Amino acid sequence: MIIVMFGAPGVGKGTIANRLVKKHNMKILSASEILKREVAKKTKIGKTIQEYMLNGKLVPTEIIIPLIAKAIKNVKSKNIILDGFPRNIEQANEIIKVKKIDLVLDLKASEKIILERLTGRRICPKCKTIYHTKNLKPKIKGICDNDGEKLIQRPDDKLSIIKKRLKVYNTETKPLEKYFNKLKLIKKINSSDNPENILKRIEKIL
Ligand code: AMP
Repeated sequence: MIIVMFGAPGVGKGTIANRLVKKHNMKILSASEILKREVAKKTKIGKTIQEYMLNGKLVPTEIIIPLIAKAIKNVKSKNIILDGFPRNIEQANEIIKVKKIDLVLDLKASEKIILERLTGRRICPKCKTIYHTKNLKPKIKGICDNDGEKLIQRPDDKLSIIKKRLKVYNTETKPLEKYFNKLKLIKKINSSDNPENILKRIEKIL
């Protein structure tokens, strides 16, 4: 089964995907993590990807499609959660050639909530667990509960870049709602409260 986590940046796609895999036998493929791994290799293509990411722009389809297709091919689990992919109609058209999408979870929250979540988001650079300075605090301030690593803020979680990312979402990604709706794949989820309640809504659908 392929589930797509869909929605604006900061709506909770990564947080919810991480909790879903803990409960079910699933594997997450996060588009931004796949891209970051390429950036870490410091190759020419990695440097190009980094420029797009730091500017809050979508990485070109010809770069991301082969990376995602390869990652999907390498996954052994039959149940995959695609987090942050596809993000425009061109990507959707390409990916359905490789894999059938079974369900699209369309997470919704107001822009006020999204801004609060993104500006307060902190992540563990090692295990990638997501925290929040107010809503999802670690046991010790600034330290990951799982491995004691110092939490960091993503460079693109700065307000000026967040605003650009939201603009890109509205112009390039949001039109995919209609696309998935036509295919009768989309389920809208109110994602404005805590992760436990959001998960309960998703569990009912699953
Ligand atoms: P995210 O963590 O999902 O908000 O993604 C962070 C950044 O990674 C985005 O602002 C883009 O630069 C890049 N990115 C993530 N997913 C995609 C995608 N499907 N297509 C192109 N670029 C992407």
